[in-house]
Amino acid sequence: MGFGLNEDQLMLQKNVRAFLEKEIAPLVNEYEEKYAPYPRDILVDLIKKLLPWDYCLGIVKKKDGGTEIPYVSNGVLQEELSRIWPSLAVSLGAGGGYLIGKLATEEQKKKYLPGMQSLDILGSFALTEPNVGSDLRGVETTAVLQGDHYVLNGQKAWVTGGNIAEVAIVFASEDRSKGVDGLGIFLVDRRESPFEATIIPKIGLRCAPSALMTFTDCKVPKANLVAGAGTGAMAKLTGELGFTRATVGIFSVGIAQASIEAGIKYAQQRIQFGRKIGKFQLIQNLIAESVVETEAARLLLYKAFSNLDEGKEATIEACGGKYFANEVALKAASNAMKVHGAWGLAEEYPVERYFRDARAMFPPEGNPEIQKMIVGGRVLGMSALV
Ligand SMILES: Cc1cc2nc3c(=O)[nH]c(=O)nc-3n(C[C@H](O)[C@H](O)[C@H](O)COP(=O)(O)OP(=O)(O)OC[C@H]3O[C@@H](n4cnc5c(N)ncnc54)[C@H](O)[C@@H]3O)c2cc1C
Repeated sequence: MGFGLNEDQLMLQKNVRAFLEKEIAPLVNEYEEKYAPYPRDILVDLIKKLLPWDYCLGIVKKKDGGTEIPYVSNGVLQEELSRIWPSLAVSLGAGGGYLIGKLATEEQKKKYLPGMQSLDILGSFALTEPNVGSDLRGVETTAVLQGDHYVLNGQKAWVTGGNIAEVAIVFASEDRSKGVDGLGIFLVDRRESPFEATIIPKIGLRCAPSALMTFTDCKVPKANLVAGAGTGAMAKLTGELGFTRATVGIFSVGIAQASIEAGIKYAQQRIQFGRKIGKFQLIQNLIAESVVETEAARLLLYKAFSNLDEGKEATIEACGGKYFANEVALKAASNAMKVHGAWGLAEEYPVERYFRDARAMFPPEGNPEIQKMIVGGRVLGMSALV
């Protein structure tokens, strides 16, 4: 039974960490202040720096132009990036065309994937709505077939990159009486099917653009239907949720790790009562708890990635790991702030951002309460959600 990364993955971790420290870390403070959220060109430049490391393309199948690295290796890349800059980690979904590769038809892939992989086209994923969060049965956005195109009406909320992406994967109801079974997936190309998009300012992950999209009689060619109502659109998506939830979980682990390191650095320097505060047992307690809980979250999530690599079930590890890591990261950031005293609140130290970013990591891919109920439903054999 192995609990660690193999030699290749350790090497990857070491090398990508050195690269991120040198090339990305120096940009974070300035960009978080100046570009919240990222303008399109700034995000594209940043993602281009990361492409040689298999960010984005690593999770795309080789047959679709990706490099198809193991999920565990991708987890290493994402943890390291989030340790440096969670906003950028969350925004990466706009590049590479992962969901198009997974969900779209062969023709759609041929048309869009090359542009998405060169970053000439950015993508977004639009499911949440102002009135629809965890309960997707009530999607209010409608799609009505009229001749050779669908007409979309409604709003999508919190869509990462929805304001800057050329292409959006949009879930809309073709038949609201059928709930989830009435949902279809549509590839909306903003250049030919225009819609409005505005920014939702938020507490953390400030550079990651969260958009409110409004579709008003938005005409989408029939050829852009990805999956129609009654063809299991949601089931197609559900198959990807283990991976995406574990990925948000590992983003939280990255933030927790950064918080621990900041707390240690400060505790080794700050002097009160004539000694370094790291010598005080209560300070050690704050750091020890964060170290142990972060390692536990990390192990759970890498088990999820390892299961996915082996084609095994990963629901409990991915959903459990996601909610556990969300909470561990918030506590680790809070502990690091306590270690910093008043300076933990100051913008000149990074821990106030870790705290904000850790909290903002709760909702993406489902809030912790929902993850707990998925785990509970799985072990009890009965769902609290239907
Ligand atoms: C940074 C960020 C990025 C995001 N990116 C995207 C994106 O790219 N695309 C996209 O479509 N969406 C995105 N989202 C939205 C996210 O997926 C939703 O916020 C989330 O799925 C849940 O919706 P909600 O937050 O509105 O919560 P709601 O469902 O309104 O829930 C509110 C509260 O009630 C709780 N709750 C709900 N139902 C139950 C229940 N049955 N039992 C107990 N408690 C319950 C929830 O846990 C939560 O605490 C993003 C959100 C954020 C913050």
